This record gives sequence, C-alpha cells and structure tokens, in this order.
Amino acid sequence: MTAGAGRYAPTPSGDLHIGNLRTALLAWLFARRTGRAFRLRIDDLDPDRSRDPAGQLADLAALGLTHDGPIVRQSARTSSYAKVLDGLIEGGLVYECFCTRREIAEAPTAPHHPPGAYPGTCRSLTRSEIEAKHASGRTPALRLRAEVSALTIEDELHGAFAGGVDDMVLRRADGVHAYNLAVVIDDHDIGVDQVVRGDDLLASTPRQAYLYDVLGHPRPSYVHVPLVLNAQGQRLAKRDGPVTMRDLGLPAHLVLAMLGASLGLCADDEQVDVEVLLDRFDPNAIPQEPWVFG
Ligand code: GLU
Repeated sequence: MTAGAGRYAPTPSGDLHIGNLRTALLAWLFARRTGRAFRLRIDDLDPDRSRDPAGQLADLAALGLTHDGPIVRQSARTSSYAKVLDGLIEGGLVYECFCTRREIAEAPTAPHHPPGAYPGTCRSLTRSEIEAKHASGRTPALRLRAEVSALTIEDELHGAFAGGVDDMVLRRADGVHAYNLAVVIDDHDIGVDQVVRGDDLLASTPRQAYLYDVLGHPRPSYVHVPLVLNAQGQRLAKRDGPVTMRDLGLPAHLVLAMLGASLGLCADDEQVDVEVLLDRFDPNAIPQEPWVFG
C-alpha cells in the first residue's frame, strides 16, 4: 500500500441518493485500485444543514465500501482550521470583508476577474474605514488576499482545467470556516492525496489548489467524475422520486449491481460484490458521459 489515501466526504443532509452512492463507489474503486487507504469524512461544518450521518454510513457499509481509520467529522476540527487561519493572518494573507451578498452581486466586476469572483471591494480599506465598519455593527468575513486570478489544475478525466481564483472567503461572518479552507486542511491532515468527487466541484478546484500552494502542501491528484442526471438531463436530486436506497427499497447487492452496470463493470442483474467490481475496474475506461437515472 502506498502512503496516500483517497476519500469520500458526504455532507450529512439526509440519505445519499444513487448519484452520491455512485461517486462514493468510484472514489473507493480509484483508491483501492491504486493501493491507497480510503478515508471517510463527514462534511458537517454548517450546523444549519447537518443531520445525523448514521443512515449515510449504513448505506456505504451495506454496499461494502470499507474505510480505514476513524471517521473524520469537520465539526470536530474547528481548532485545526483556526490554527491554519491564524498562520495566514500572521503572514498578512487575510483581510476583513464587510460586504453583504447583495453588495457583492451589485458591485462592478473588474475586467480581469472571472465571473462570480469577489470584486475586491474590501481588499484595500484603510484602517479608519475598517474601524467605521466595525463601529456600524457589521461583522466581517475573512478573505484570502489572492495573488492570482486563475490557476490550471490537472484532472485525470478532464485533463488540464483552468479556473478562476479570487479572494475567497476563509471564514464566514457567522464564524463558520469556509468549505474551501476546511477541505484542503482536512485532506492534507488525513493524508489524502487523491480526491475523487462529482464534477460539479471541478469549478472550485483551482481555488482549493491555490490554497494548497499558499499553505505549502503538495496538491492531491484530482478525478472529477460525471454526475448522475435525472430524465430531464438535470443533476439528480432527492425530489426526483425514489433515488435513495431506502426509497428504492432494493437490497444493497442489487443497488451495487445497478451502479456497477452504469460503470460498465457488470450486468445489472449480476451477483457481484465490490471486490469483483474492483477486479474489473479500469480507471482509464470509466464512462465519460453522465448516467441518466429514471
Ligand atoms: N461534501 C461535499 C459534497 O457532499 C464534497 C466535498 C469534496 O468531495 O471535496 O458535495
């Protein structure tokens, strides 16, 4: 086994749907195929969106997706995020941002900024402007003082991918650490060097890669896998009907065969387990097209 690890990192917002399960299976197959450990992390940073992950964990176990080491919960790692953030603050790489969402949406964007990027409104506030904002009762978010506006990452399925980097939020005004910061610190701390996840997250990857660079950590290898779509060609969601293991009411081995079939690894009525799928799995031959479910 190499020293590295892959991982699956669900947000505990209810049962996993078939698309989430397929991504989890792919992450497991990629990790095991390359001799890596496989870690599980619960992305429960946001207290408003977090539920008990027990059902998700039970579904992953029922499919046979074994994991190594303890399950990591982001909600228990706040002090690690705070420590890294303190280092960035000491390095002069962080500034306070008092903008509301609306102010950001309405601000004119500078020509060299990618769409949706923070326009830099608070980047150069003077000390007295900052004091006035505090005095008016506004609580700031903390943003990274980014030195680039774009970055190219390498993805094993997408090849070179260039995307925008901006002065991303590191800690929200409500004190919750930002997802981009947390995932980078987590993955580094738990030895993850292979990130397999849905390709809806590809666009935020250059930001995360930039954080790796800023923190002086080697970037992981990235594999952004196609999402599962509904019959209308939109990203599958729980409102699309019976899409979770519980709602489908199927035994785990049939769900696994369905997922395996969608990856061209078995017939959808074949008796398989994850080890059989692993034997047949070729990372270079996974379908590039989204799987339409329903
Ligand atoms: N928790 C994120 C999600 O469920 C995934 C984070 C990641 O894989 O980096 O979409």
